[in-house]
Formats: sequence, structure tokens, C-alpha cells
Amino acid sequence: MRCLLPLLLFACPARAEVPVVETDIPPVAALVAQVMGSLGTPGMLLDKGGDEHDLQLRPSQMRALNEAQLLVWVGPDLTPGLEEARAAVPGLQSLALLDDPATHRLDYQGGGVNPHAWLDPANASVWAGLIGDRLGLLDPANAAIYHTNAMATQAEISILDDTLAAKLAPLTQSFVTYHDAYGYFTRRYHLTYMGGLAAGDAIPPGASRLSDVHAAAASGTIACAFPEVQHDPALIANLASGTKLFVGPPLDPVGSSLDPGPQAYDTLMTTLTDALLTCANRP
Ligand SMILES: [Zn+2]
Repeated sequence: MRCLLPLLLFACPARAEVPVVETDIPPVAALVAQVMGSLGTPGMLLDKGGDEHDLQLRPSQMRALNEAQLLVWVGPDLTPGLEEARAAVPGLQSLALLDDPATHRLDYQGGGVNPHAWLDPANASVWAGLIGDRLGLLDPANAAIYHTNAMATQAEISILDDTLAAKLAPLTQSFVTYHDAYGYFTRRYHLTYMGGLAAGDAIPPGASRLSDVHAAAASGTIACAFPEVQHDPALIANLASGTKLFVGPPLDPVGSSLDPGPQAYDTLMTTLTDALLTCANRP
């Protein structure tokens, strides 16, 4: 509960309550849920099936943001629509994970920061620590619990990372995806990634890029292509027709189809790994 009346501020200098936390997307919500543990459950603003680059708050979501003390989010590079909403809430603290100097940032192949940084588990591990530290500052009475939970989260991420690396070893084929979200993942696991068909987050693929990729598919330079859950699969199906390009299952890099909860980060990364492995195991 926020102290709304200035005269009452001295009555609650050290907030002894668990803060109300909002988050942007499922992987961030999962990390916050793991760090909060049994103390609380964060809200999440991305709708099921929603596009992370096009997040716009409904009035009910704006009210939820107004109830929160802390917003944990990737940052304005991922959800520009959330920046204005966040700034309009007085007293709302912001933990923009991508903007922390400890986060390892990559650029898109075409330039500009790639905000899909949760797809590198090393970043997820850093973020669990940042979340634990910030919650401990907001809620000192429970700081030791947040710290312990953050360490446990980091240990789980480390095991997940090793498991994914081992599973992905057979994936030596090159592939394309609908949008250029996967640089963090493919770099972490040494995969051959030809990037996205779309040049930017909110830009549909251009004719010249499609014709380049079609030529690469026809010559066998690219083995596989993956649609994504938020985008029409017809584009990639058309691209593959008349070539040996294998079309894999649709990817969900932000976990928008998952049930939110502490398990969602593990599920997102494992589901993505299994989907990409269909390229190595294709007929
Ligand atoms: Zn994206």
C-alpha cells in the first residue's frame, strides 16, 4: 500500500509490506515470480498472443500500473508504448533491465539495440540478481528472502543453460526466422542464424530480403525457416515452396502463448530449443 497523503509519509518510512510489482512480458514475470517466491505474485501487462513490440495499455492495465510500486520491464527498446504510461504514474519505480550496465546487449544485424536479451540465460541470471536487489531495497524486512530466492533462480538458470547447450549440439544447420529476435540465443549456443525476414520490429519483410532468402533456400545455403506465433505463417510457406527449405513449427520468443508463472522462463527456453531442433531432425 502506497502512502498517498504526504502528511502520513513519516508514518511509514520503511515500508514493511511486500511491494506490488508489475512486469511487461512472461520471461520477466517468471523471474520476478521466482524471486518473490511465496511473498507475492507480479502482474504482467502483455496479453496472451500479444506482440511485445506493440504493447498498448488498456484502462484496466493502466489502473493496475497505478497500483504498483515497481515496474520490472525490459525497457523502452522492447515496449515503446509502455514508456509513456510508466512515466505518467507518480512514484512508480522502474527497473529497466536492458538498460542496466550488467546486461549484455547485442545489436540487430541491421543496427540498433536488439531488446530480446532474455534469450541469453546469462542475462536472465543477471536480471534475477537485479530483481532481488531492488526488491530488497523496497522491502528491507524481506531482503534476505529475495536474495536467497535470486540465488536459487540463478542456480536453476545455470542448469537450464547446460541442458539447452547439450540439446542444441546437433543443430548445425542454418535457419531464418520471421523477425530478428534470436541473436542472443544463437550466439549463446553457437548456432548458424541467417537473421529475420523482417528488417525491424514493426516492419513487414521487404521484397528484396525475401528474394535473397528465397535464392539462399533454393541453393541450399539455408536449411530451415521458422514462422512465429504472432505472424501469418503463409509468408514463410510461400518462401519455401519450390525449394528444399524445411518449415519448422512457429516460434514464440516472448512466451506470449504460455501460462504466466515462475516456470515460464524455463518453458519458453525449452520450447524454443525443441522447436529449433526440428531443423536438425528434419526428414
Ligand atoms: Zn520481438
